[in-house]
Amino acid sequence: MSKKLRYSEKLDCRHCGNVAPMRCPGAVSDTQTEEQDFGPPVEHGMIYEVLICPKCEEPSIRQGHWHDGMEDEDDWHGTIIYPSEPTRVAGLPNEVEREFVAAQKVATVSPNAYAVLLGRVLDVVCDDRNAVGDTLHQRLVDLANRDEIPTNLADMAHKLRQLRNVGAHANLGTITNDEVPVLEALCRAVLEYVYAAPQLVAQVESRLQKLFSN
Ligand SMILES: [Zn+2]
Repeated sequence: MSKKLRYSEKLDCRHCGNVAPMRCPGAVSDTQTEEQDFGPPVEHGMIYEVLICPKCEEPSIRQGHWHDGMEDEDDWHGTIIYPSEPTRVAGLPNEVEREFVAAQKVATVSPNAYAVLLGRVLDVVCDDRNAVGDTLHQRLVDLANRDEIPTNLADMAHKLRQLRNVGAHANLGTITNDEVPVLEALCRAVLEYVYAAPQLVAQVESRLQKLFSN
């Protein structure tokens, strides 16, 4: 017996970044029925829907509240609960954020492209921090010399720069999925240090000031 395939509206796949309707092989409902003093019993609860990305074939799970007053399927709105949303780095300037998000979208599709785009994130960080130099290498050294980033972090950023070169030039080798988490950790470390940590310190300072001004 052939089963009619059901598809969602266009969704953003958090595994591979593809935007397309996803196949829905099934859903689980966790509902209860409540008797009413007047009128028919009311059924309501949670629906969990499994969605399969047409591009990477990885599953996502969407959760949403449902009640039997919903007349149409379109009345139900779920939120993706798996995979979880990538954690954002606090305090990123718009352009850095944009480049970092763009890079994350290709992480699982093309590790080589991911390395190249993370290198672009470093370029934008250097622009934002007014780093001086003709090459990314010189600009990272400049940031370290000016104490914008500590030397050991600059060394890590150099590794990311080297991996970016590998990603961009096939004759130098290839970046595999195994390197993706390392690349991400390297880039996050730089972003956390340059943007998130100072913002956190500023927040703590402001709270301390309020505390002591009372
Ligand atoms: Zn996908």
